[in-house]
Amino acid sequence: MLDVAEAAGIHRIVVPTPFGVGDVNCYLIEDDPLTLVDCGPNSATSLLALEAGLAARGHRLEDVGLLVVTHQHIDHMGLAHVFATRGHAQIACLDDLVPILADWDTHAVDDDDDALLVMRRHGVEEHVAVALRAVADIVRGWGASSRVDRGLTPGSTLALAGRELEILFRPGHSPSDIVLVDHAHRIALGGDHLLAGISSNAVLSRPLTPDWDGRRPTPLLAYRDSLQKTADLDVDVILGGHGVPVTGHRALVADRLADQDRRAASLLKRLADGPRTAHEIATSIWGTVAVTQVFLTLSEVLGHLDLLISRGQVTEDRSAEVIRFARA
Ligand SMILES: [Zn+2]
Repeated sequence: MLDVAEAAGIHRIVVPTPFGVGDVNCYLIEDDPLTLVDCGPNSATSLLALEAGLAARGHRLEDVGLLVVTHQHIDHMGLAHVFATRGHAQIACLDDLVPILADWDTHAVDDDDDALLVMRRHGVEEHVAVALRAVADIVRGWGASSRVDRGLTPGSTLALAGRELEILFRPGHSPSDIVLVDHAHRIALGGDHLLAGISSNAVLSRPLTPDWDGRRPTPLLAYRDSLQKTADLDVDVILGGHGVPVTGHRALVADRLADQDRRAASLLKRLADGPRTAHEIATSIWGTVAVTQVFLTLSEVLGHLDLLISRGQVTEDRSAEVIRFARA
């Protein structure tokens, strides 16, 4: 299906990352302006690979006129500042993400501080939570603040000389995911919203807007809502941020939703013996996982608990310092 994209002037550039997910896909749209969708993490290794990919198509980094960031994760936006400073590109992302990307260095610290509070509230042992908070200080360096020139409003259209890209808001995997749809070519650029080889996790993240009331966000519920909208999308292929393109997106969405239902049902059984913390549930599923995975497994469990709560099958007791979940 990459050949379909190439016929439409959309070329994949595979960029290495230091993360467990492996390589990230950046997409070069040979149009006017020359447009890149996502750019890889803030590392020299990634930059060299990206520049080699551009050179293979006869372009330099300085030729890129527009960089669109699909979402806030550092494997997708870390090099944006290089395009904004060394290059001449306009940088664009979801409108609500603009102030965050522009002040990433502050926002990311706040995110990591919030994650520490979340881990404590959900029963992660103090030494593990503190260790993961320290790891976050290192990982954060693969992201960077960047000037942003253009905020993309959901429902609006990004016009290049030879095509129009509709901007769809598809939160869940992160609060800032967008999908760009080239209706004429029946191709979507999906970021990490829907991936062929792995199920995108709905990572617990602070909301983008500053008027947050402090309640726990429910990213899996948002993600399911987004997936259902994507099932209705009338395209032939979705180019994902990792791995091969998605074809048959309707069936894949149905699979992903069914997987979530199965996981929620299995999680409900783990509450048979009485109330448990989200971290106790995570440990009962995955055992002792690497410190770096503690927050991801917690997100996974909380997401499915939110699904069970929304169905009236689970209750949440917030009265004590550590939150416990029980069968309703
Ligand atoms: Zn991501």
